[in-house]
Amino acid sequence: MTKTALVTGVFGQDGSYLARLLLKKKYKVVGTYNKSKNLNWRLKRLKIQDKIILKKLNLQSENNINKILRGNKFNEIYNLAGQSVVNGSIKDTINSCNNTALGVVRLLEGLRKFNNNARFYQASSAEMFGNSDKKYQNEKTTFSPRNPYAISKLFGHHICKYYREHHKLYAVSGILYNHESPLRSEEFVTKKIIKNLVRISKGENIKLQLGNIYTKRDWGYAEEYVEAMWKMLQVKKPQDFIIASGKENTVKKLIDIAIKVLNIDAKWVGKGINEKLIFRSSNKVIIEINSKFIRKRENNLLIGDTSKANKILKWKSKINLEKLVKIMIKEEIKIYKVK
Ligand code: GDP
Repeated sequence: MTKTALVTGVFGQDGSYLARLLLKKKYKVVGTYNKSKNLNWRLKRLKIQDKIILKKLNLQSENNINKILRGNKFNEIYNLAGQSVVNGSIKDTINSCNNTALGVVRLLEGLRKFNNNARFYQASSAEMFGNSDKKYQNEKTTFSPRNPYAISKLFGHHICKYYREHHKLYAVSGILYNHESPLRSEEFVTKKIIKNLVRISKGENIKLQLGNIYTKRDWGYAEEYVEAMWKMLQVKKPQDFIIASGKENTVKKLIDIAIKVLNIDAKWVGKGINEKLIFRSSNKVIIEINSKFIRKRENNLLIGDTSKANKILKWKSKINLEKLVKIMIKEEIKIYKVK
């Protein structure tokens, strides 16, 4: 029998890849968006824009949510909607919390009333560990959120656990570390770097400005991470999982990989705020530091321990940073050509 899945936030990076994965697995996919139907460029890029049933959904409206859940029988619900950028949650805190935190309880309550056989996936985030003093975090590590995004995600995480334990719903959270792809938005450093270095490699006369290039992240490939989301809903016992690469890399390492792949003959000069990447031949600046991009509050180094996912889901991140950068560059070059 055909399964039906609801994906909230289907226009986002993860929503798009997950929708494609579910379509491949022969699901009927209902996807929701919040703002405009025209923001479906990612679905178009994946050539699945006509294969998804689109519905407008405002996570701030209980009526809106109940209407969707009452009118359809879903087998799986993936809640990927909400503010995905930490800075956005700082600038627009009330709205951000309303969607990212309270949106989850509205969905779960609707699920309990109208669709309680559906399996529910909540997109939790490594940001919830924020200030963790443990270098590697697992499902039992204490949370220490530091911004409205992380605090909202933590609410979603706990309320999900509550509905699982108290109302016996199949509701689980995936605690995902940074996951990137050609579909990432330019607010994230991976896409910002790769897009601009590709332009520079094509001879464009631009200079890239960045913040702290020594911060480290646990970066993985988004397509693999949505596979983990699906796997989480296929196991018998509902439970939470850490999904990460388990590797740490600096922003600078990412740049070094990218310039090598793009054959940009460059070198680093200077120190601190004056550090620059320049062309060896002309000394022309490619990258410089601008204090405007240096964050005052950075998280501690966060690296995920995926032993549980390895064991129970048989899931492991296979695309390392080098492969990820190559995938992103290849796609960036492809779309550059058709400009
Ligand atoms: P985040 O983990 O969700 O904050 O993902 P980002 O891609 O936005 O940031 C990853 C890391 O890159 C952080 O430690 C940033 O401080 C660092 N970074 C350095 N320069 C930049 C920049 O120009 N833009 C962004 N977004 N991050 C930068």
